[in-house]
Amino acid sequence: MMPLRKFAIHQPKTVAEASQMLADFGAEGRLYGGGTELLLAMKHDLLRYKHLVDVKTIADLDRIEIKDGALMIGGAATHRAIERSALVHRNLPVLTSMAANVANIRVRASGTLGGNLCFAEPHSDPATLLTALGAKVHVQRKTATRAVSISKVITGAYETSLADDEVLTQVEIPLPTSSQRAAYLKFQLKERPTLGLALVVEIDGEEINKASAVVGCVSVAPTQSEKANALLIGAKAQVAGQLSAAAEELANAADLIDDVEGSAEYKRHLIAVFLRRAFTEVSR
Ligand SMILES: Cc1cc2nc3c(=O)[nH]c(=O)nc-3n(C[C@H](O)[C@H](O)[C@H](O)COP(=O)(O)OP(=O)(O)OC[C@H]3O[C@@H](n4cnc5c(N)ncnc54)[C@H](O)[C@@H]3O)c2cc1C
Repeated sequence: MMPLRKFAIHQPKTVAEASQMLADFGAEGRLYGGGTELLLAMKHDLLRYKHLVDVKTIADLDRIEIKDGALMIGGAATHRAIERSALVHRNLPVLTSMAANVANIRVRASGTLGGNLCFAEPHSDPATLLTALGAKVHVQRKTATRAVSISKVITGAYETSLADDEVLTQVEIPLPTSSQRAAYLKFQLKERPTLGLALVVEIDGEEINKASAVVGCVSVAPTQSEKANALLIGAKAQVAGQLSAAAEELANAADLIDDVEGSAEYKRHLIAVFLRRAFTEVSR
């Protein structure tokens, strides 16, 4: 690792100011959250920026609140803040436990949710769970705002649909109905997860009325399959008998590859094991 090249840090007070700075700096500037990805890549000389625009000086960008039936998490909220938020725990405990298991305490203390999603590193826990929860992200470019479904944000490994001068301001997660059950499980042997699997269902007695299964980390972006979700709907006992078929559909939809984490066949096996475990958890 080489010493960091020289760069300047800029501290905007508003999102519009940050976006304007990014537009002015062009390819020489980048947003900077906790720096856990960015500074590492810059130390390895994989990325070079002369100007870093700090999102942490923007007022309220780390706010966590309930608004209009949704949990709103600011783009600059750290994993640790999410893990420790009583509001998150009360409303979406599955998010609390996911956040508590991201990386290590040092990364969680400075790494932000916005940085995690916008870096689009394929081994992201939040991206997988938030996709299953039907989350949206709010982004702002100068004074213009838009909301994008999370499944449309990550377009590939280290690629998003956001423009270079857009700032992720908030993640919006619909509050669960009383019949919603959610599980997020991951399998991890190294620094980052080999597999993350989220299952969110609506259960009425013995009947599953709605299901959303998402697998992450096994390919470039979180994957869903309509066919898998259809097999996860119906009487619990019937769905239990269809889990292998649903896992096959999910694995077919994910573009599984052989890599240092394991072979495509191994990942297919893990999907089946973890879908079954997640089903056991949500149908208890
Ligand atoms: C050792 C290690 C272990 C890890 N383990 C896990 C793990 O188990 N699970 C997991 O999910 N992740 C893991 N990670 C990834 C970690 O979650 C991310 O590094 C962290 O969340 C990134 O946030 P940051 O604020 O540090 O981003 P930065 O490094 O500051 O920025 C990353 C990218 O996001 C952009 N960006 C930052 N904020 C915004 C914003 N608000 N709007 C638009 N663009 C923005 C930056 O311009 C940059 O391109 C691990 C990382 C490390 C180093």
